[in-house]
Amino acid sequence: MRSAYPLLGVMLSAITVSAQDQPPIGGGSYQPAPTECVSAAQRQQIEAQIAANQQQLRQRGILPAISAAQPAQVALNWPLRQAPGYDYNSYYGISNYVDHNRGFPNALLDWNCGSRTYDTAGGYNHAGMDIFLWPFDMNMMARGQAQIVAAAPGVIVGRYDGNPDQNCAMSNANWNAVYVQQADGSVAWYGHMKINSLTTKPVGASVVAGEVLGLVGSSGSSTGPHLHFELHSASGTIIDPYAGSCNATTASSWWATPRPYYESAVNTLMTHGAPPVFNACPAPHTPNEKQAFMPGELVYTAAYYHDQRAGQVTRYTIYQPNNTVYSTWTHSMTPAHYAASYWYWSFRLPATAATGTWRFEAQYEGATTARSFTVGVLKAGAAAPAAQYSLYPNPAEGSVQLTGPLPVQRVEVLNSLGQTVRTLDNVTSPQLNLHGLASNQLYLVRLRRADGSTEQHRVQLK
Ligand SMILES: [Zn+2]
Repeated sequence: MRSAYPLLGVMLSAITVSAQDQPPIGGGSYQPAPTECVSAAQRQQIEAQIAANQQQLRQRGILPAISAAQPAQVALNWPLRQAPGYDYNSYYGISNYVDHNRGFPNALLDWNCGSRTYDTAGGYNHAGMDIFLWPFDMNMMARGQAQIVAAAPGVIVGRYDGNPDQNCAMSNANWNAVYVQQADGSVAWYGHMKINSLTTKPVGASVVAGEVLGLVGSSGSSTGPHLHFELHSASGTIIDPYAGSCNATTASSWWATPRPYYESAVNTLMTHGAPPVFNACPAPHTPNEKQAFMPGELVYTAAYYHDQRAGQVTRYTIYQPNNTVYSTWTHSMTPAHYAASYWYWSFRLPATAATGTWRFEAQYEGATTARSFTVGVLKAGAAAPAAQYSLYPNPAEGSVQLTGPLPVQRVEVLNSLGQTVRTLDNVTSPQLNLHGLASNQLYLVRLRRADGSTEQHRVQLK
């Protein structure tokens, strides 16, 4: 099971200009449950398949025989990338490194002599690293927001697709994966991929560094969307790519750019019309993200982190369209290290709020992250993805026709003051009833898509 998302008690009605620590009205930590990733039996099968493929590829002259001419160690780039069109500052967290303590259970030792790894009572010691998506993992998976890319150039020596990809528990299910032999003879494993997302390249094809191999999914023994990245030396032993005093598998880092033990970062800031709701796997989450507000409306400002640690201070600032500070506050109450965390606050825009583009900003660990939202402007923010729906006729009279995927989870109609005047759930008919609404007015129709995100359309009623 995943950990709960605890709500912190205090309810604030408004943010005041303050240099003080301001407790959030909600939030908490997120620590994905460990996942066995690959069982001993599956590991044997995979290794046998890779060995058979390698032998064939060597016979065909595609793979060179292991020789002294090979580099001792290749340089690895990060095996994940954000898909084009997405602008999160970061989009993942690290839940587990390799376990270097062969004992079990609860005999944990990662490369940095910490315990950010896991084992099981059955004797499994985690042999790779787990990189999970954050925030709103299922939604990110559905959108294909996180691409798995080749960490180094090489030749595909194994691949498997076709397994279900929305698993939520440890099981003996098989995963979708790509295996790449690199120039030094080492083999990188990329596991838990989304079904049918794999590169079309067959076993024996070459890939370049950074080439897309597939998308993050939750296939195999997995409690949620994540990449299991595992490295094997040319002779088949497990390599942990991080250099550290508790990692005897390598003397120097395999990463092209050294990577810290904690990568403290704001993944993204968001504005919401209501608190974000995290639903149980495999349901998509309900972010309630909102970028266009009207004067008088409640605005939720939220920050999503990975590797947030005790004592770290974030300064948040809200800027008005003329770049003056509307409010500013700090937050530093995180009591421990969180693989992922989020915190949110709310404030009500005054009736006289300046219209235009506002900016919500966070300064944290020397970096600034920002997200803009609009007030009094009836349009979605610039970051909104392409529309799935269209509404016609417009202007409309009494009802409006909807084209796009049905059912629509929720349709909300808002008036020009930003007040919800109609809510329709689980809409299965393409004809939206607008009878009874004041005529000669402009309305905002908000449609919640299957992945939990929303899109908005302006409709003029005759
Ligand atoms: Zn794993």
